[in-house]
Amino acid sequence: MERAAQEESRRFGYQQVELPIIEPVELIERGLGADSDAGGKELYRLEPHGDSDGEAPARLVLRPEGTAGMVRAYFQGGLNQGPQPVRLFTLGPMFRHDRPQHLRYRQFYQFDVEVIGDHSPAYDVEVIELSWRWLETTGIDQVSLELNSIGDANCRPQYLRLLQEYYRPLKDRLHSDCQRRVEQNPLRLLDCKEEQCQPFKAGAPRITDHLCAACAAAFAEVKSLLDAAELEYRLNPYLVRGLDYYTRTVFELQHQSLGGAQNSLGGGGRYDALAAVLGFADTPGVGFAGGIDRVAFMLQHEQRSVRTAPAADVLVMPETEGLARAAAQVGRVCRGAAPTGVDYSARSLRAKMRAADRSGARWAVIMNADEARRQVARLRDLVSGDQREVAWDALPEAIAPEGGTD
Ligand code: AMP
Repeated sequence: MERAAQEESRRFGYQQVELPIIEPVELIERGLGADSDAGGKELYRLEPHGDSDGEAPARLVLRPEGTAGMVRAYFQGGLNQGPQPVRLFTLGPMFRHDRPQHLRYRQFYQFDVEVIGDHSPAYDVEVIELSWRWLETTGIDQVSLELNSIGDANCRPQYLRLLQEYYRPLKDRLHSDCQRRVEQNPLRLLDCKEEQCQPFKAGAPRITDHLCAACAAAFAEVKSLLDAAELEYRLNPYLVRGLDYYTRTVFELQHQSLGGAQNSLGGGGRYDALAAVLGFADTPGVGFAGGIDRVAFMLQHEQRSVRTAPAADVLVMPETEGLARAAAQVGRVCRGAAPTGVDYSARSLRAKMRAADRSGARWAVIMNADEARRQVARLRDLVSGDQREVAWDALPEAIAPEGGTD
């Protein structure tokens, strides 16, 4: 799954970055909002460690998500100075101190994609397409793309007042978290999963009926570009993000057979106001976070054999013991042309060949003591079964992808 993420990202021209796992609490709390679930009770806080110089102890946390760290990297790494926008991705563990349950872990893994530095809705669609292709490459199907727009600072406040007006008279009939949300975070009323709150959603005003002209135009552009990409989507007025810095596009990739709250394989959206919230220059961005654990579960559940590339394309196998030095040298020579492994085991040649066949490697390079002395080897094409003698220094050319046996 990680290899599929890397392949797909590179195909779209995204570069991989590594971000810290331990972060200052200020960055994360600003990025998530201290009142949100992920920013509040779910945050893994580390015990503050004092410094021997008497410096105030740093308040650190295990990162619950990647976007805030990515936006900081964009500025601190000087990426804001180069050509815009910047396309980045990262892979790694995230931590949330939630109640552990099936498909909701305290340490889980995400594939994170971000485009920072441009407002165009075309990037929203590019990020959606990349995340869609990622799932496709892993072999998962039955995925549905859910889409919504949550407006921006221009149109959202008016809409939130309408939503509050609708929900206030219903407050007593809502779940306790939702009673609080009516005043504190009304947008989150729409994605509440509690049974008792469901009947009221259908009558609630929809934000897509209340977008300002600029947000409506951006939303229309996203939909038309998705149509052009032949990506089917379902408009979902209940798909929201509870934080103010999220703007316009929100989307989620849901698996149809995963039920309930855990059906999301990944999601994302535009966050044009985040950089400013983190204390950097106002800079737009859009991103996606995919849950690797859930994708792994689905592949296993659907009993798909995960498409894996062989670890090595070439396997060097000395026929007898005592040839380790020669085999290592041949390994070095072949690595110039293709990923190469050396089988140093004392197994019989037959057993080595069986393992090579199972591994999916393309070439076997076989050698006995006499051949090693003459600095030649038998190059065997594991697909066709053809075999011929090749001098060591001619091996790279013979095994290079454009080379071939003839
Ligand atoms: P979020 O960052 O909350 O938007 O989550 C993005 C994706 O990460 C979700 O769609 C899930 O696939 C995955 N995810 C989020 N939280 C967890 C968790 N606690 N355990 C496993 N996967 C998670």
